Amino acid sequence: SCARRLDATKILNAFVSRTSDISSRQAKASQKRLSYAKKRLSALDGIPVAVKDNFCMDGVHTTCASRMLLPYVPPYDATMVAKLKSHGAVIMGKTNMDEFAMGCGSVDSVHGPVRNPWGYDFAAEDNDLWHIAGGSSGGSAVAVASGAALAALGSDTGGSTRNPASYTGIVGLKPTYGLLSRHGLVPLVNSMDVPGIMTRCVRDAVLMMNALAGHDVSDSTTVPRLYEPFEIPTDVESVRDLHVGIPKEYHAPGTSADVLAAWRKIADAFEKAGAKVSQVSMPHTSLSIVCYHVLSTCEIASNMARYDGIQYGHRSSDESSTEQLYAATRHEGFNDVVRGRILAGNYFLLKENYDTYFTQAQKIRRLISGDFWHVFESGVDLLLTPTVLSDAPDYTFFSKADNRTRTQEQDVFTQPVNMAGVPAVTLPCGLSERQLPIGLQLIGQPFKEKTMLTAAKWVE
Ligand code: GLN
Repeated sequence: SCARRLDATKILNAFVSRTSDISSRQAKASQKRLSYAKKRLSALDGIPVAVKDNFCMDGVHTTCASRMLLPYVPPYDATMVAKLKSHGAVIMGKTNMDEFAMGCGSVDSVHGPVRNPWGYDFAAEDNDLWHIAGGSSGGSAVAVASGAALAALGSDTGGSTRNPASYTGIVGLKPTYGLLSRHGLVPLVNSMDVPGIMTRCVRDAVLMMNALAGHDVSDSTTVPRLYEPFEIPTDVESVRDLHVGIPKEYHAPGTSADVLAAWRKIADAFEKAGAKVSQVSMPHTSLSIVCYHVLSTCEIASNMARYDGIQYGHRSSDESSTEQLYAATRHEGFNDVVRGRILAGNYFLLKENYDTYFTQAQKIRRLISGDFWHVFESGVDLLLTPTVLSDAPDYTFFSKADNRTRTQEQDVFTQPVNMAGVPAVTLPCGLSERQLPIGLQLIGQPFKEKTMLTAAKWVE
């Protein structure tokens, strides 16, 4: 039935490729296991999942929604994909995204923009009035929200899993940096990238995480400790032992009244249920977005250097000189957002600018992480914040603002989490006046996903 949903919602442009052969083989194998051996490989056996198109999958196009990688077919599986396969999950296809995961709307894709199923008029012939799905993992979010998959892999560098999850009314989990392997995830900002988990409910997110977490010899940044799978009790009765912090600096200008109301409501609910709820201060929050911009573009500039037209993907026909080949390939292969970020990163990394921008931003990153350590050390278990400023913006409105402004506005609550490497989850918390989903974010202590997700289950 997920396959039927996928066909019925093609107009949303969530999938860029379907892996029908692979998925039907996987589905048959898991059916066999169930009927003959009466045994499941794991909780994911036979479960339809979708995979963002920046995870390599053996023999399947991995485009990162860029012209640069349109011809690229990797000869190996990313660790996340290999784990999904070994747990018996049925991979339905690769999902649409912003080019190289740079963006927060899934509108900057060589495959065209992703449409949000919420409020979408499927009956209309020519429908210009629709809401964005958020991004950059918009395709994965829509796959789950529209029922084409029960879970999906996204990636989260500055909010790319949580932002679209919030706009499409699903759960989006950004695990602690180092808990899930990045091997085979096309790198954006290596020091912040994590695979993200997108599901309809908190319990499904836990099942996915239990299957995917753990040390990987192919990713030296995964922590070499044993991951202990956990379950969330059927009835989470008490949050009485929790101390929930409300960071006062997260009252950002431009936050919609709907989001503020939902934030207040859930904070009150925690308090009524006996949790300690208090305002906390994270004084460096306002520096975070600029600092994120400097550090992310620096890493982007060096990561993108590999696309030279020689080793991967697209190659220009302009081969008059080696330099010209590089330049023409990159001009043709990347969109202007990607090119802009490469330029910015290289500028910040120039010898004469390095200390002013890069070194300075690294220092500020330390202060931002420090804000999290301090509140957690003072006894706070969780932070409760909005995920994004509002419900899903209209496409016509969103596509006008330039990408930098969009990022600055939309990533304000999400990217500090990546700078600090801590875990966070967004979950649906009601509808806005326009009847679109609103999400709130819980931020947890590093490697304390269990506490965070148990509280999330309680909110759910
Ligand atoms: N919007 C952010 C950016 O464009 C998020 C990126 C991400 O998490 N992949 O950098």
